[in-house]
Amino acid sequence: DTTHFGFRTVKTSEKADKVHDVFSSVAASYDIMNDVMSAGIHRLWKDHFVRSLDPGRKPGGSPQQILDVAGGTGDIAFRMLDNAANLHHDLETSVICADINGDMLREGEKRAHAQGYLPSDRISFKVQDAETLDAIPDNSMDLYTISFGIRNVTRIDKALESAYRVLKPGGVFACLEFSKVSPAPLDALYQMYSFSIIPMMGQLVAGDRDSYQYLVESIKKFPSQDEFAQMVRNAGFLTAGRGYEELTFGVSSIWKGIKP
Ligand code: SAM
Repeated sequence: DTTHFGFRTVKTSEKADKVHDVFSSVAASYDIMNDVMSAGIHRLWKDHFVRSLDPGRKPGGSPQQILDVAGGTGDIAFRMLDNAANLHHDLETSVICADINGDMLREGEKRAHAQGYLPSDRISFKVQDAETLDAIPDNSMDLYTISFGIRNVTRIDKALESAYRVLKPGGVFACLEFSKVSPAPLDALYQMYSFSIIPMMGQLVAGDRDSYQYLVESIKKFPSQDEFAQMVRNAGFLTAGRGYEELTFGVSSIWKGIKP
């Protein structure tokens, strides 16, 4: 175990160690690299992801408790608070931004202060492993999100089991992640881009080729859209249709499930 600026960081296995080191070394450059690598498109995907979930108090309903797992520097959490405030005049819905890496959360907390989300009760930052979520009670969350995080988790089935545990019945699981590109010629171009250009940009912009090499390899290893949808169902969630929506030719996809 290590401590970074008051956030305790938990390490559990070789993959977890690697993932921890990657995100500690990219934490400071993470936001700018996202923009550089995706030409800003990750912002559109995240906007669409949050908009499709429409977090916040609905007429006659209550404020929501939201858990954003692998929340990193807060991109999804901030968008959810904005959606609740701007579209539902709701300043009571709250988000826990949970991540295994204290360095990423520290960047998130800095941004939350800079952008006026802190100090308040609307957002909190917690070091948590997606596999266990040991500080989060059973049946306590209305919405669980994980954006570009699940592929970094060592035991994905454990993370899905924990998502199911912490959600209230009727609660929503939503995952945004890189996925498989089609048709095949486009995939060939995408593979070329990701395996040659992204590590090079990592070197140029962040002085860190290896971390960005890891990131593209982890994308390649992640299951297909249908395989991951089946894992979501195996964890007990109900899905509509095939269980996912593809964005930008499958470069990313959104999977959703409901806890019955
Ligand atoms: N959700 C943010 C976004 O969409 O920009 C950050 C995504 S970043 C690519 C992946 C995050 O997953 C990192 O902050 C990393 O520390 C976190 N992570 C990796 N393994 C984790 C685990 N087992 N539990 C919780 N977070 C984890």
